[in-house]
Amino acid sequence: MSSAVSVQNLHVSYYGNEAVRNVSFSLYPGNLVGIIGPNGAGKSTLLKALLDLVPRDRGEISFFDQSIKAIRKRIAYVPQRNDIDWNFPISVLDTVVLGTYPGLGWFRKPKKSHKEWALHCLREVGMDALSHRQIGELSGGQQQRVFLARALAQQPDIFFLDEPFVGVDAASEETIVSILKQQKDSGKTIVVVHHDLSKATDYFNQLILINRELVSFGEAREVFRPEVLAKAYSGEFSFLKELGVSV
Ligand code: ADP
Ligand code: MG
Repeated sequence: MSSAVSVQNLHVSYYGNEAVRNVSFSLYPGNLVGIIGPNGAGKSTLLKALLDLVPRDRGEISFFDQSIKAIRKRIAYVPQRNDIDWNFPISVLDTVVLGTYPGLGWFRKPKKSHKEWALHCLREVGMDALSHRQIGELSGGQQQRVFLARALAQQPDIFFLDEPFVGVDAASEETIVSILKQQKDSGKTIVVVHHDLSKATDYFNQLILINRELVSFGEAREVFRPEVLAKAYSGEFSFLKELGVSV
């Protein structure tokens, strides 16, 4: 089976400062993978570099043995909340419709079937009743569910989500996790940046632990061990203790 995501010797820097250094891993379909690591560890940068949204210094990246250009439509990306302009005047339904057909643009009118499909996806995340609201009027949890619906509407093979639980209520978080688990079980590849360690082993079956460099990658229970976490969270022992991780 070819890997869904393959990264070899990836280096990314901003103005000469290396944010991601020599990272390599391969992910296979049917996995729900968490990217964890301290603030500023390069988690978002790693995701953006995979999607070619920031330039890389070097490294090879492929998806099912193809380049991002060839396969972009089969990849869904939900950015970090603060990378999204929530004041943009667009309804919940249109947010999802535009996700469904990335090539549709603003000027072509979506067909009825596009709207029906978007509504179906909104129903999956429990947001169909608010389809005519403006996206900016929703709570954090509702907004994140709409963005998940938009990703689902695209019917991708690979999902990338950056901190989808920040500013999200517990019920929305539960809904999002259960949908991601369903997608995993149906053979999709899901990669989630997640800085809160408390639920890491409940949510993800594999973990990528980074602190600029790859510290550890593998089965969640193997990575989520005090002696491994301590390598990435050096100097943050009190933080680990709070989580009940003894170091
Ligand atoms: P994380 O998502 O793990 O918190 P980031 O990938 O956002 O980390 O950031 C990694 C490092 O790169 C940090 O030191 C951050 O300040 C820096 N960085 C991120 N984005 C930019 C940017 N657009 N320009 C300059 N430096 C950046
Ligand atoms: Mg980030």
